[in-house]
Order: sequence, then C-alpha cells, then structure tokens
Amino acid sequence: MIDLAFLKGSSFVVLGLARSGLATARALTAAGVGCVAWDDNAASRAAAVAAGVALADPASIDWSRTTALVISPGIPSHLPAPHPVAAAARAAGKKIICDVELLARAAPKACFVAITGTNGKSTTTALIGHILAQAGVHCEVGGNIGRGALDLSTLGEGGVYVLELSSYQLELLETFRANVAVWLNVTPDHIDRHGDMAGYVAAKENIFARQQAGDCAVIGIDDEPSRAVHDRISTRPGVVAVPVALDRPVAGGVSFRAGRLIDADGYAVDFSDVPTLPGDHNAQNAACAWAACRWLDVPRERIVEGLRSYPGLPHRQERVASVGNVVYINDSKATNAEATARALSSYHDIYWILGGQAKEGGVAPLASYFDRIRHAFLIGEATELFAGQLEGKLPYSRCGDLQSALDAAHLRAQRDDGGEAVVLLSPACASWDQWKSYEHRGDAFRAMARALPGAQRLGMAA
Ligand code: ADP
Repeated sequence: MIDLAFLKGSSFVVLGLARSGLATARALTAAGVGCVAWDDNAASRAAAVAAGVALADPASIDWSRTTALVISPGIPSHLPAPHPVAAAARAAGKKIICDVELLARAAPKACFVAITGTNGKSTTTALIGHILAQAGVHCEVGGNIGRGALDLSTLGEGGVYVLELSSYQLELLETFRANVAVWLNVTPDHIDRHGDMAGYVAAKENIFARQQAGDCAVIGIDDEPSRAVHDRISTRPGVVAVPVALDRPVAGGVSFRAGRLIDADGYAVDFSDVPTLPGDHNAQNAACAWAACRWLDVPRERIVEGLRSYPGLPHRQERVASVGNVVYINDSKATNAEATARALSSYHDIYWILGGQAKEGGVAPLASYFDRIRHAFLIGEATELFAGQLEGKLPYSRCGDLQSALDAAHLRAQRDDGGEAVVLLSPACASWDQWKSYEHRGDAFRAMARALPGAQRLGMAA
C-alpha cells in the first residue's frame, strides 16, 4: 500500500469503491488522512466499511472542508452526465482527481512509465513490467491493469512504476508526469464520455502533459490520428519522440518488418517465433515495449530475453494446452468482431469456437479471414444469426454450449490431416448468455482444454 502520510491535514472524498477506489480509501484511512467515501452500490459500501473506511452521505458532504474529490475513472465526472457527487464537488470549486495523481505525489523520486492506447494497453503494460522485472529493475505494475495504483508499494529513486492508463484516468491528472509515455494507437471509442473523437484524443494526449526535457514519448504511428499526435509531440523542445511503425522503416524509431524488430540504429531481432505475442497487433505492442525499455537503458539482450519469456495475459490469445500438433487457445476477451479479427489474422488452420451474445454486425466483418478457418463451432444465443452469416462460406456446426463445441472441435482437429492447427475460442460475443463474464468463460475453456485426453498443459494461468 502507498504511504499517504504526507497528506495529513487534508481531507478527501472518495467516490467509487471498486478495486481502485477501495484501495484509495484504505490508503488514505491507514495514513490518518481525512477521508469519507461513497459508492452507489450497497455491496461495495459494505466491503469498504468492513475494511475500516468511513462512508459519506452524499447529501451532507461538507465541501468547504474537502481538499479534493478522488473519483473512480469509470464514473463520469463530466459527460454524458456527471455523477451528483462530482457535480457537487465542481460546484464547490473542488478539484477532481484520480488515484494515480496521489501516487505521483507520493513517489516523487520514482520513474513513471505510462501506457495508453485504444487497444493493447494491458498487454504492453504487462510486457514492459515483465521485461523490467527480468532485467532486475525494481518495478511495480498497476493502474488500469491488476492492482489499483495505491495498492502498489512506495518506490524511491531507481524504482519504476509501469502504469496502464485509460483516457478516463488521464483526464483526472494534475501533476503526474510520465518519464516515458507510451501511446500505442487510437480508434474511435468511449465517445459518450469524451463528446467526440477529438475529445477522446485530447484526453489521451494528457499522457504527454508535463513531460520535461529528457523524457521520452513512444508513439505508434500506424493510424492517422496517432501520426498527428506524433507530429505535435515531436516538435516539443526536449522531449524525445520515438515513432513505432509496422512494415516500413521509420527514421529515429522502431519498426517491425518481415518478422523482425528493427531499432533506430538498424539492430534487428528475429521476432517471428514468440508464441505468446502472435500477430501484427502484438508486434506493435512489442515494438513499443522495446522502445520504452531501451530508453530506460535495459540492455538489448535482456529485452530479447524478456520478450521471449513473456508468459502472456489470460484470455488474450492465451495458449492453454496442446494435443499433438493442435494448440488450444483461449481468446475469451475477444467480445467483438474487431478483437476476434486480431486472433484470426494470427493463425492458419483454425477450428473456431464462437458465439454468445452477439454485437451489432455479428461476424460479417470477418469474411476476409474465412479462408483460414477449417470449421466453425457455434454456441449460445448468436447461433442462428452466425449460422446465417456463415452459410455457404464456411462449414459450421451448431454446438449449443462450450463443452460440446470444444469436444466437437477437438475430435475434428485430431481426426484431420495431423498438420499444425489451432482450436481457438474467440467468440466475437459477450459472454452473459451463458457465463458471468469473459473471464468465467475463458477459465472454463482453459480447464476443459487441459482435461482433454492427451492434453499437455501450456501457459502459467491456473
Ligand atoms: P486493452 O488493455 O487496451 O483492452 P489488451 O492488451 O487487453 O488491450 O488486448 C485486448 C485485445 O485487443 C486483444 O485480445 C487483441 O484482440 C486486441 N489488441 C491487442 N493489442 C492490440 C494492438 N496493438 N492493436 C490493435 N488491437 C490490439
């Protein structure tokens, strides 16, 4: 837990008591700092009380005695409509910040590596954390991934925080300075919270706010808005902007071409056979991680070791088991066609398990990958919709549930010609028709795949 004793004498209202908010309220309370908290959810309030946190009745908060509101990033403080507590704080002229801002103030000597982007944040954050840890750097990984910012340990000089930051968190920072800011990509998302695409990009661009001479901005430039961001940031005096691009050389930056990562000075690493980072999207993540770690002076050989030993994250193209030449892959996090496209683009000879609660458009946008698929196995509510969309284009079976789909896919994959193949759960659907969450669905798939006759376990996740 971060030591917040330096804030004694201040008084905070904490709004939102899920993972990050509860950690904030606990850290403030433990340090003897004034803190009252609220969550609209009764179970979250009860958990906070059990953890020793004092609750606030939103109607009777004394804003005149309050230093600032610490809000959970998932709760709107502005658009589409501010939460009433946020509206009251603003009316009282109080600052609205998030937990990462308090972390920055608590650890002024530490180095901060911040990662943002529409896609790939968690992977790149985990990858940088893994490379640094393997290289013996004292680091803590958290933010939007894993542990809340104030659940981490306090680091001093030489310590590195590796933080995944969403657009929501980035707009709630006041003094936070990223020594290394990593911007992966940007495509339209969360427009309800940011008004429009320009608002979304502007919120994300806060990752570069307050960077100083000698700080580094790693920027993926494979989409148009990100190129514009690079153009803006690279003209700032002092900040070293490192562009990252796929399939083309990029002056002063890192590129990924023909299976190789290529550094600014031409140093190249063969990256074609890292099974936990398949596909061009992961090449972008790896190239950005490379650039960030190089700036932190991690020796190249150590970065290569870290990339090669990266265990991957659960539910994201996670290799869970193999039987003979067939690998079983859990991509349960792919709850829409765009995410599933990444997985389909990464393999050939795919036995594809899909379905659940369909998103708009279903799997129609995936047609260009159909020649990679040997057979599709449909589950859940989306079965008839997907059957209609696949009809005449792909052989498919209606399987009902995940266990039946896996059994059918396994049988067929093992019976076919014996070459390398994958059984891929990449549902392109939400899980809620049959599961509590995508994690629940992915955990079940992992256990089922490992229980197949002759299965060799792959990966670290339990
Ligand atoms: P985030 O934390 O930003 O949601 P994750 O690392 O959890 O990202 O990856 C989620 C999904 O996003 C992956 O399963 C994959 O489909 C896709 N993805 C990952 N990295 C990228 C990238 N660099 N560009 C585009 N899509 C990506």
